[in-house]
Amino acid sequence: MTKLVRLDKDKLMNQNLEKKEFNTPDFVYIPFPPKKEDLKKEAHIKKESLLYPGVYAPISGKLSGIDQCLLFPGKRVNCFVIQNDYEEKSESTKPIRKKITGLEKREFLDCIFDLDLKNRLEKNLSSTLLISGIDDEPYIENEAFLQRENTKAIMDGIDAILSLQQNSKAIIALKNTDSKTILAYQNILGMYKNIEIKFVDDLYLIGKEPFLKKYLKLTEAFYLKTSEVYEIYVNLKKRKPLLEKYITISGNGVSKPLIIKTKLGVKVSSLFNKYYLEDLMDCAFYVNGLMGGVQLNLNQLLVSKDLEGIIVMKRVKKVSKACVKCGKCISICPIHSNPMLAYKLGIKVECIHCGLCTYICPSYIPLQKYLSGDDGE
Ligand code: SF4
Ligand code: SF4
Repeated sequence: MTKLVRLDKDKLMNQNLEKKEFNTPDFVYIPFPPKKEDLKKEAHIKKESLLYPGVYAPISGKLSGIDQCLLFPGKRVNCFVIQNDYEEKSESTKPIRKKITGLEKREFLDCIFDLDLKNRLEKNLSSTLLISGIDDEPYIENEAFLQRENTKAIMDGIDAILSLQQNSKAIIALKNTDSKTILAYQNILGMYKNIEIKFVDDLYLIGKEPFLKKYLKLTEAFYLKTSEVYEIYVNLKKRKPLLEKYITISGNGVSKPLIIKTKLGVKVSSLFNKYYLEDLMDCAFYVNGLMGGVQLNLNQLLVSKDLEGIIVMKRVKKVSKACVKCGKCISICPIHSNPMLAYKLGIKVECIHCGLCTYICPSYIPLQKYLSGDDGE
C-alpha cells in the first residue's frame, strides 16, 4: 500500500472563509498557442468565442495589445490582451438543454469544449466512474466549495456521463472530515440510484488519481475531479465553455481568507489589489499551496485552469542545517523516490513534487528546490 501522510494543519487558518465573485476584470490575458495565429489588434471579440483550438474568450471586448505573463508553475508566455467592454456580448445564442442524460456518445463529446477532457472521455471512459471531491493541499478549498454550491449540477453531470453506458456506476470520494460537503450531498443522494459516496481518511495526496484508486481498490475506474464534472455539466446544459474558476487565498499573511470565483485569464495581482489593502511586503506567496506549490512573484501571474490558490505566509527565516542522515525524507516519499540523490549528487530523480520530503526534514533543507533542478539557495 502506498504511504499517505496525515499533515498537521492550523485549523484556524481557513475559519470564516468568505466567498467573492470577480466577474468584471478590466483586462484578461490569453496565452498564444504554440504556433501563433494572427488576431488583429482592435478586433472586437465576443464572450465565449473561439480564439484558438480549445481556447475561448472569457469576456467581450477589443484586442488591445500583447503582454508577457506567467503561468503556474512558472512558465513565461506571451499573451493577447482583451480590454473589457463590459457588454458581455456572447457568441452563443443556443437555448439551455432541458435534458442532458441519454445523449449519444458522439453528440455528448461534441459538446465538450476542453480538448484534453474530451480526449480522456473519448478514450478512457469505463463503467465505473471515480469522482474525487477532495482538495489535497491544506488550506485550498476549491473542490469542497464548488461541490457545496453546485451539488445538484454535479450530480446531474455524473448522471449524464453514466447514461452513456449501461450498468455503469459512480463513486464520489470525500474526506470523512468534510462534514459540510457530505451534508450537501446527503440531502439529494437518494434521487440518483447509481451514485454512491465513499469516505476516505484525511491524508495528504489521497485525492490524486493513482493514490485514490489504490486506496479504494478501483484501479480500472475512470477518474475525474468534481470541477471537471461541473465543467461537463456546464458544457452540456448551457452549451458553452466554462471560463471561470475558484481560487483560494489564505495564509497567516492576509487579514481574511477568501474563495474567489473569477474569470480565467485575470492577473492574480488584480485580485489582491481589489480585496487586500494590507502591506504584504514581508510575506512569501506559495502558489498552489504550502506542500506542492511554488514560491512565485505574483505580478504577472495569470488565473489559469491549473491555478488553485495562493497561500500568503509571513516570512519566518528558517536556517538550513547540515543533513543529519536521518533518512526521513526517503521513508516519507509516496512514490519511493530518493530525494537525497538530487540533494547530494545533483541526480535527477522521479518526483511528483508533493513537498513531503521538505516538510519532514528536521534540518529544514529545501529539498524540493534541488528536485526541481534549482540549487537550493
Ligand atoms: S517531493 Fe518528490 S522526492 Fe520529495 S517526497 Fe515528494 S515525490 Fe518524493
Ligand atoms: S530528512 Fe533532511 S536531515 Fe534527514 S536525511 Fe533527509 S535531508 Fe538529511
